[in-house]
Amino acid sequence: MTGDGAHSVALRDCPLCGLISTVPHNVRGVAASCPQCTSSLGRIWHPDMRIPRGWALAAGLFYLLALAGPFVQISIFGRLQRADIATGPLQLTVQGFDLVGFLVLAVTIIFPGIKLGIVLLTLFGIRLEHQPTRFLKAIFRWYPLIGPWAMVDVYLLGFLVAYTRLTAMATVHLDLSLFALVGLMISMAALDGSLDTGAIWDALDTGPAPRPLDADHRGGHLIGCHCCFLINRAEPGMACTRCDTVLRDRKPDSIVRSWAFVIAAMALYIPANLYPVMLITQLARTTPFTIMGGIVELFAAGVWPLGLLVLLASIAIPLVKLLSMACMLIEAQRPSGRHLLGLTRTYRFVAFIGRWSMIDVFMVSILVALVRFGQFANVRASTGAACFAGVVVITMVAVESFDPRLMWDGAREAAPETPHDPTLIAEPS
Ligand SMILES: [Zn+2]
Ligand SMILES: [Zn+2]
Repeated sequence: MTGDGAHSVALRDCPLCGLISTVPHNVRGVAASCPQCTSSLGRIWHPDMRIPRGWALAAGLFYLLALAGPFVQISIFGRLQRADIATGPLQLTVQGFDLVGFLVLAVTIIFPGIKLGIVLLTLFGIRLEHQPTRFLKAIFRWYPLIGPWAMVDVYLLGFLVAYTRLTAMATVHLDLSLFALVGLMISMAALDGSLDTGAIWDALDTGPAPRPLDADHRGGHLIGCHCCFLINRAEPGMACTRCDTVLRDRKPDSIVRSWAFVIAAMALYIPANLYPVMLITQLARTTPFTIMGGIVELFAAGVWPLGLLVLLASIAIPLVKLLSMACMLIEAQRPSGRHLLGLTRTYRFVAFIGRWSMIDVFMVSILVALVRFGQFANVRASTGAACFAGVVVITMVAVESFDPRLMWDGAREAAPETPHDPTLIAEPS
């Protein structure tokens, strides 16, 4: 399985089932999916960096505009209150919820900023005549890790939920920064859609070293790099020849770590739903607000699509995620070989959907930022919000820690005759 020199096909290992297959490489308009578990193995090869460069510049501009001023203001009895993105995290900290405040600050400002910084530096760095390859590789390695934690899109949905509550108690004015946030969301989605990370790694792969698969002197076996997806002939613990990431056959201590996170999240799920996430004071009367109570209110107010969305994102999805993670962990430990395809698709789904459960946390952060009118109207965060934020983050980490290939490994051991030959699976897009 050595490289053939031509760049028309390349080996790829499937991050979800571990099968190594040949996929078209550097062929525009062709996408590949894994022949065993059907998950996507890579985007269309698109060497033209002008489109993502344009979107990255637009996103950078919108990001600065979004930070520049308040995005919403409300007035109650003639008194005015404004909020920018940082006001919510600040108020959460003032109210004693430092960790939740920092979490909201991180996923709405810090991580989107870092993600944009990485993309802009990389996209413009590779244009330079003497590109700082080592530096660009070192920063671009972080791109796939940071991606899911940049949550501008989820924040806007949280704002939509908060907006329906605010209009019931105050006059709401939208400010320029809100439209910048919408622009940021759209341009970041377009950037993700147009950026071919494989083409970037190819552009950074300028060293004179032989193609890694020819480097038989390294010994070892074929290992896919989880960061840049290059197949290396190496031993676990060696560095990827292209991006320097430490190579591992499987994620280390995957099962123990995932179980620990799943159990911790399950334990937090109960107080997250029992305790109020915030306390709402209106005309000196304080009412506790639980997530379920909020959903009932949305239905009662007639905004049932939003109610349904919050019901799904806050109650159903976290529970489905935790239960399906438990099923996957059991399959990885005691392989039955059944429902592997279904479990792998479920894993793909829970990995994709995890971040959307942050809607309610963002709603709380927006309401505590704005509704600060003493005994007239006031919103304070409560224990449930911290527990709920914990459930969402810990579940995301549990999903990240789990290695779905372990389920397929078990099935392979049970049935060693499973065909393992790489297959060419070009599909016109
Ligand atoms: Zn696969
Ligand atoms: Zn690599």
